[in-house]
Amino acid sequence: MVAPIDKTRNCLRTPDDIIAARVSPPADKGEVAAKPGSDGESAPDSGKVNILMVDDRADKLLALEAVLSSLGQNLIKAYSGKEALKLLLKQEFAVILLDVSMPVMDGFETAAMIRQRANSEHTPIIFVTSHNDSENHIARGYSLGAVDYILSPIVPGVLKSKVSVFVELFKQTEKIKQQAEQLRRMEEAQHQRRLSEAVDRLEAETKRNRFFTLALDMLAIANFEGYILQCNPAWEKVLGHSEAEFRARPGLDFSHPEDQADFAAELRKLREGLETTYFEGRCQHKDGSYRWLGWTAVPFPAERLIYIFARDITAQKQTAEQILRLNQELQRRVADLTEVNVELEAFNYSISHDLRAPVRSMQGFARALLEDEETQLSPDGKSYAERIVNSGSYMDTLLQDLLEYSRLTRAELKLSPVNLDKVLKEVLTHNCREIQERNARVEVQPPLGWVVAHPATLNQIIANLIGNAVKFVASDRQPHVQVRAEPSPGCIRLLMKDNGIGIAPAHQKKIFGLFERLHSSTAYPGTGIGLAIVRKGTERMGGRLGVESKLGEGSCFWIELAKAQVDEP
Ligand code: ADP
Repeated sequence: MVAPIDKTRNCLRTPDDIIAARVSPPADKGEVAAKPGSDGESAPDSGKVNILMVDDRADKLLALEAVLSSLGQNLIKAYSGKEALKLLLKQEFAVILLDVSMPVMDGFETAAMIRQRANSEHTPIIFVTSHNDSENHIARGYSLGAVDYILSPIVPGVLKSKVSVFVELFKQTEKIKQQAEQLRRMEEAQHQRRLSEAVDRLEAETKRNRFFTLALDMLAIANFEGYILQCNPAWEKVLGHSEAEFRARPGLDFSHPEDQADFAAELRKLREGLETTYFEGRCQHKDGSYRWLGWTAVPFPAERLIYIFARDITAQKQTAEQILRLNQELQRRVADLTEVNVELEAFNYSISHDLRAPVRSMQGFARALLEDEETQLSPDGKSYAERIVNSGSYMDTLLQDLLEYSRLTRAELKLSPVNLDKVLKEVLTHNCREIQERNARVEVQPPLGWVVAHPATLNQIIANLIGNAVKFVASDRQPHVQVRAEPSPGCIRLLMKDNGIGIAPAHQKKIFGLFERLHSSTAYPGTGIGLAIVRKGTERMGGRLGVESKLGEGSCFWIELAKAQVDEP
């Protein structure tokens, strides 16, 4: 607002008002005059504002300074318009007192330049002009943006009050500016905080949502009334219904009629605040089939919400059912086979037992023929009788072996600590004839130790293995059998190594079967029951057995039995 000019008040009324111009002009008018006690820069922290006084005459500047010093602000002097413009570049002024009549650049030109600059276009300018020029100066001054006029000679009171209005105005404006800035900063900080909180929230939610969406398990939130409120895509994948379809009907509607009571009971428990630790129940697929689901659920009574985790266990259930069915089938077959086996063993035993008598009788009569009627027999008749004796003898051995085998499968074997060294000694003594016949060398590496076994069965097993080790050696070779024991955790492994004909890998398993033979009985006599007895006997004593062999390079048969804890004398 432009202050009205009061010409009557703008004059010097009393002699005191007149300021004596007792000042000498500055040494260098080109220099910017510094305010008292400062370097010409504003001191914003001091609370003082800058007042620029522009006049080419030092005495007039001094007079202005004298009047305005009592305002307690920074008074800055400029001796030309150019200096004033320079100062305006550096700092801000609350008001400019501008002498109109200055050489080179007068007050009007200076004012015009001041208004052209952005940072000073609104700075209040008070023109100082003489009474004589006032008429035409005032009009021009206003057109250039002056806000007031002071007529010289100046009236100190008027000058002071006019300037102090602008000083106050500037101060208020500054204060408002500062407050506005402070407010802006506060708002900005608050906005930033809210923004970063929102970003954090969004980030956390996005991550949670990812878990929810990507989880392979079925995740859902339901209310206490049993309605699903939200569910992840796994539900549609497993059950075929869309999320909207799940939300439209109570959860129980989807359950299998047979499982509905259980589901309802679980829901009641959840409403009471109890968790569902694990529960299995069927739900209907959109295609009408049912899927088995494994459920866990946690209630949040305050919110009346239930958090549900479910997993499709249909395949697992089907497999379990299939395994159960197969197991039942297996049990049934095992029972059938056991029955058949028992019958077969009984049959085998009675046949073997009952056949021995007629065989023996045939053998006896044939021998009688050879001994008592030898002279009356033709050479052919003698040969036939001899064949009957030999066949009878083979058949008797076969029946004996079969009986042994049957006994082994049926008899109850009482296990006790058995000294292997002692058993070996007995076997070698009893099989002395075969060993001597083949001139075999049997080396035993004592001590062999103690095992838990059935003494007679163990004796029979070792006798069979040593017998084979001596028997299955090329006729032009002296049999050499090495017997030693190898400790293994909780067991003793007895090994019998020979230098015989060896066994091809393809046959190594099957030779432990009943009647399995790799050679004709003319090449190597036998019944094919010996190793079957070894296997059955070892297994019935809770042991293991095996063979390591290469065709033509000998064999090493082994049996492994539990080690007996005995205090040896
Ligand atoms: P048998 O000795 O009456 O023929 P076994 O059941 O004892 O019957 O042996 C079955 C078959 O295993 C034998 O016919 C023979 O071919 C093979 N066999 C057993 N022991 C040896 C061995 N030490 N070396 C080579 N072959 C063997």
